[in-house]
Parts: sequence; structure tokens; C-alpha cells
Amino acid sequence: MPRNLPRIVMKFGGTSVADLGRIRKVAYTIKKQVEAGCEVTVVVSAMSGVTNQLVGYCEALNPLFDRSEYDSIVSTGEQVTSGLLAIALQTIGVPSRSWSGWQIPLLTDSVYSNARIKKIDALKIIECMQSGIVPVIAGFQGIDETGKVTTLGRGGSDTSAVAIAASIKAIRCDIYTDVDGIYTTDPRIVNKAKHIKSIAYEEMLELASGGAKVLQTRSVELAMKEKVRVQVLSSFKEDQAPMENALPGSLVVSEEEIVEKEQVTGIAYSMNEAKVIIKGLPDQPGIAASIFRPLAEENVNVDMIAQSGATDQITNMTFTVPKTDLKRTQQILEQNKQTIGFTQVLTDNEVVKISVVGIGMRSHTGVANTMFKTLADRSINIQAISTSEIKVSVLIASEYMELAMRALHTAYGLDYT
Ligand code: ASP
Ligand code: MG
Repeated sequence: MPRNLPRIVMKFGGTSVADLGRIRKVAYTIKKQVEAGCEVTVVVSAMSGVTNQLVGYCEALNPLFDRSEYDSIVSTGEQVTSGLLAIALQTIGVPSRSWSGWQIPLLTDSVYSNARIKKIDALKIIECMQSGIVPVIAGFQGIDETGKVTTLGRGGSDTSAVAIAASIKAIRCDIYTDVDGIYTTDPRIVNKAKHIKSIAYEEMLELASGGAKVLQTRSVELAMKEKVRVQVLSSFKEDQAPMENALPGSLVVSEEEIVEKEQVTGIAYSMNEAKVIIKGLPDQPGIAASIFRPLAEENVNVDMIAQSGATDQITNMTFTVPKTDLKRTQQILEQNKQTIGFTQVLTDNEVVKISVVGIGMRSHTGVANTMFKTLADRSINIQAISTSEIKVSVLIASEYMELAMRALHTAYGLDYT
């Protein structure tokens, strides 16, 4: 007779399982959740530092390594943790077993090192839970149709956890990490950053793609699509099983669940972009297409774009690309110099993108203006701007990052008092 207990996914990141002591502590946290009357499925990351070490091995042998072999190597980190945690649970009297991605199976496409989940067959995991055994799943990994092991991109165990929560119909996906939730901005930069009780999927998505590192961007996309309620909480602080009516962490939920819709909910920064300026372009129709088509064809992700006003039919174009794609971008532009017809390409790595995000922007005006004025008052020059319905981003010199973040945090009334 199947029981009818609330199901919860508990995911533990690298620092939460960094050594055997931490793994024992995590086992107790899981035991408390089971004793509180829940059916629990656990998802784990590799012990912190392990994935980096494995990636390093691949790069040292051959920088142009075979990506499917890379996947079979880097996926082992999670496999170790899942087995260790299963033993730690058994040791304190909680029946448990480990699961690799292929054993479930968690089926993905064949984009090795950055695969996407196609389908999860949750049957065996549900049976495992219902027979009173806690499944501990190795995150970050899956299997493709040809039977090869795949991985989901760095930080991908968040995505595993959310996908599994959706497939077993969990009431919540708890992501345990080394911070106690989501903050209005990075507390290491702005010490007046505030803990956020709840945040909308859309906001978290903009913050994550704007550079906030708490959750992998793809995991938020998936949570939004599948309506999985996600809680971010600390594995270092929490000793009690969180109760639905008093959750200690930050909740990522749908907009309807958010009571207070602030103008600005959070501020993120990203140092991962580089600026490209193309000078001496003919000011004529089709010029943007001639630049961005070849970049798109080579999968270079262009983010912010600004075109300066033309003088004498000559104009300049500024845009940003991921720092890791800068060399390739320069190469592609050089190859297309004839068709585009520019005189010079300049690049700058010393830039930061700062984004302010809030669903309240839909109904409040003047949010962008506050940003521009705050930066102007501190003589910080804006090099490019981009916006969405709930976000304004600016590109500035990286030396002003801290000054700008603190000033904006105060200007939007986010400071902790
Ligand atoms: N261990 C993998 C990484 O370091 C996946 C994860 O931790 O989410 O990227
Ligand atoms: Mg992570």
C-alpha cells in the first residue's frame, strides 16, 4: 500500500559535502527531514574542488580534449559523493542507496559537457522512496541515446535537482549551500545587502544571467517552466527540518506568491563580459546585420549593443561578448572586414555589467533614470545599456564596480537598516 507523504528533493552543493565531517552532518539533516514525515530524494554535487581538478586533468592532457571522454571523467565526482552519503545515511540508521544518472535513467541530448535533459523516468526513484529507502542521486550527469555518459554544464547539479523534483512531483526542491539564501546583492561587496524571503522566477532568472551565482541559470529556467518551488538555504546553519509554514531560506516561486513587489528586488554584476568597439563603419542599412550575422553563425553570444550617432556617414558600434569568446570574435570580425567595411576594432576587458532587476518595474516608471542619475552623480561613465521588461543593465569600467553597486543599493532603498 503506497504511503502518501509529502515529497521533497534535498540538494547539497560542493561545500556542503566538502569532507567526511560535512557529509556526516548532511546525513543528519536528511534524517531529520525523513523523521518529520517526508519522502526524500537527495541530489549531490561533487566534493568542492573535485570537478575543477578533473577538468584540469583533461586540459593538461590535451586542451582540445574529446568532450564525451571529458564527461565520463568529470561525472565521477558526483558518483563518489552519492556513494559516500548513502553509506553515511546507512550508518545512522537511514536506509539509502546511490543512483548514477544512467541508472535512473536521466536521458539527455548528446551535447557533451553541456547537455540538456530530455526525459527522466522517475519510476525507480519513486519505488525506492516508497520502499523506505532514501535515493541519493549523483547530480550533473545523465546518459544520451547512444548510451554515453553526459554532463549538464558547470553548476549543473542544481538543474538535476529541479528536474528530478518536477519528475517525482515534489512539493519543494531545497537547495542547500554555503549561504543562507538569496540576497539583494552580493554581501561580500555590499555589506548592507538584505536577505530576500521570496523572489519570482523571472527575477531570479535575470539575476542569475546577470551574474548572481547562487543558482545555475538553467535550473531557474526549468523551475519556472515546471513550476517547481525552490528554496535556497544553508547546510551550515540549519539543524531542523524546515517546516512549510516557517521556511528559513529564500523561496523562488511564481509571481502570484510574492506579496510585496518592489521596484528593484536585486542587483547583480558580471565581470564575464568584454567590450568590442568597431570604428569607422559606413552608416547604412544592413550594417548591424553584417556584423552580428557572422557572430551568430559561430555561436558567439552578443549581449549589450550600443551604436553611436553618425557623423559624415561614419558610425561606431559597441557591444559585449563573453570574455572567453573575445579572441574568436576578433578573428571573425577580421575575416569579415571586407564585407563589413570598418577601419578598426578596439577591445576592453576592464568592464563590468551591472543589472538592477525587479518585477515592480512593470508598474513603476523612473527606475532606469534613478540608475543613470546615481552613476552620473559619482561621475561614472555608462558605456552601453540594455533593458528588458524587468531589468536595466549598464556597462561601466570595472574599477567602479564596488562604488556603483553600493550607491545603487542605497538609491533603490535596499540597504539593511
Ligand atoms: N560538480 C559540478 C561543478 O562543479 C556540478 C555542480 O556542482 O553543480 O560544476
Ligand atoms: Mg552550484
